[in-house]
Amino acid sequence: MTQKHTILIVDDEITNRLLLSEMLDEYTCIEAESGNAMWKQLENNSVDLILLDVMMPEEDGFSLGKQIIRHPHYKKIPIIYVTAKVTGDDINEGFKSGAYDYIKKPYNTIELDNRVKKALAESFITRDLKQRVITADMVFNHILECLIITNNDFVIQNANPACISLLGFDNFDLLGATLSDIVYNEEGFPLLLTSIIGKTTDIWMMSKDQKLIPVRFTLSPILDADNNEMGWSCIFQDISQQKELEQNLISAKESAEEAAKMKSAFLASMSHEIRTPLNAIIGFSDLLDDPSNTPEEVKHYIEVIKKNGGKLLAFIENLLDISAIEAQRIHIDKTPCNIRNLCQELYREFEVIKSSYNSDDIELIVVSNLPEDFTFNSDRNRLHQIMHNLLENACKFTEQGEIVFGCNINEVQNYIDFFVKDTGIGIAKDEQKNIFTNFQKVKDSKIQYSTGIGLGLSITQNLVSLLGGEIHVESELKEGSVFTVRFPLS
Ligand code: ADP
Repeated sequence: MTQKHTILIVDDEITNRLLLSEMLDEYTCIEAESGNAMWKQLENNSVDLILLDVMMPEEDGFSLGKQIIRHPHYKKIPIIYVTAKVTGDDINEGFKSGAYDYIKKPYNTIELDNRVKKALAESFITRDLKQRVITADMVFNHILECLIITNNDFVIQNANPACISLLGFDNFDLLGATLSDIVYNEEGFPLLLTSIIGKTTDIWMMSKDQKLIPVRFTLSPILDADNNEMGWSCIFQDISQQKELEQNLISAKESAEEAAKMKSAFLASMSHEIRTPLNAIIGFSDLLDDPSNTPEEVKHYIEVIKKNGGKLLAFIENLLDISAIEAQRIHIDKTPCNIRNLCQELYREFEVIKSSYNSDDIELIVVSNLPEDFTFNSDRNRLHQIMHNLLENACKFTEQGEIVFGCNINEVQNYIDFFVKDTGIGIAKDEQKNIFTNFQKVKDSKIQYSTGIGLGLSITQNLVSLLGGEIHVESELKEGSVFTVRFPLS
C-alpha cells in the first residue's frame, strides 16, 4: 500500500480550508489557520506540500513562504500559493519568495488537482534524483575499491580517489586516456580489453612511475534503462600483498622440495665419499698381507692406503668445518701473514698433489705483484684453506692447460685480490650463483658423479666473509674459470 501524501493547508478562513480539504480528499490534509499554527503542524507532521494563502491577518503568505524556503528542515517542501491576489507583481513576488506554483481563486477541482499532483510528482522526482546523485557521489568518492568509468570506446571519463591514489596519476592525466593504455598482463604486454569483459581477472596496471601493480579487475558494461550500453565501469583492487604472499609460498615450497632433494643427494654422496676411500683402504690392506708382494708393490699399496686415508680425512674435516660455520664456532686469529710465502707453500703442495687429480700435464703458475716482504693481516690457516679449496677445484675440473694463481694488490683502491684461474671445463652462467650453496654441484652428469659433495665453495665463501672479504667467479663453459677473493687492505 502506498502512503498518502500529506498536504498542509494554511488559510485564516475556515471555509477555504474545508473546501480545499474536500477537493483534495485523496490526500491526507492537515490545516493551519495562521503562521504559528503552520509551524506547529510542520513540527509534528511530515508534510509533502504546503498550500499557502497569501492574505492573512497576522502574517502574510509571502513572508511565511520566504521563511519556509530558508528553513533548514522545511526548505525542500514545495509551496503553492492560493490567493485572490492576481496582479503580475503578486505573481512575481510569489515566485521570488520561492513558490513552486501559484493558484488563483476561484479555482476548480481539476485545476487544483492537476497542479497539486504535478508539484508532488516533480518534487518527488527531484528529491529522488538528488538523493541518487548524492549516494552515487559518496560511493564513488569513498569506496575503498578503485573505480574507473569509461565511455563506449574505453576512453576514461572519471576515476575515483582510490584509483588516483593507487596509480599515482592525477585525474587530469587519466581523463581522455584509453583504458588499454594502462592495463597489462603479467609479462608486461598490453591486454586485449575484449578478453576480460564481464569477468573478474587478475591483471597488472601501469602506475604513473611505470610500475606494474597487480590488481583484481572487473570490467562491466554500464547499461541504461533500455539496456543500451552507455560505457564501461572498471572496479579493481590492489592485490600486491596477496601476490607477494603467493610468491613466498611458492618459493617456500620450492625451497622445501630443493632441501629434500639436497638431503637425499647429500646422503648418497656421503656414503659414496666414505665408502670409496674406505673400500680402497680395506682392499689394499688385505693385499699387503700377501707375503709374495714385491717391495715395489708394497710401496704402491701403502701409497694408495695413505692417499685414500687423506681423502677420508679431508672429507670429514669439510663436514666438521661446515657444522662449525653453521654453529658459528669458527675462531679467527689474525696476524701479519707473508703472502708470497703462502703462495710459494701452496705452489709446492700442488706441484705434488696435482698428479692425484690426473692434472700432471697442467702447468701451475704463481703470479704476484707484491713486494717480497709484504704482509697482510689475516688468519693464515684460513687463507691457506681458502686458496687450497680453490686450487683443488681448479685441479679437479681442468684436464689440460694451466692453472695460474696468486695475489694482486691495488693500493689506490685499497684492496688485495687472491685469484685462481684455470683453463678447465668452466661453469654455465645460470649455475654460477648456486655453486656457493651447501651441497650444490653443477647439474652436469659428469660433474654430479665426480668426487666432492658440494661443500668446498660454501665453506670457502663462509671463511672469506668471516675474514671480511668477498668471493666471486667469472667463467665460460669449456674455457675456464677465475675465482677472485677480495679483501679490503685496511
Ligand atoms: P665439490 O666439493 O663438489 O667440488 P664445491 O663446493 O667445491 O664442491 O664446488 C661446487 C661445484 O662448483 C662443483 O661441483 C663444480 O660443479 C663447480 N666448480 C667449482 N670450481 C670449479 C672450477 N674451477 N671449474 C669448474 N667447475 C667448478
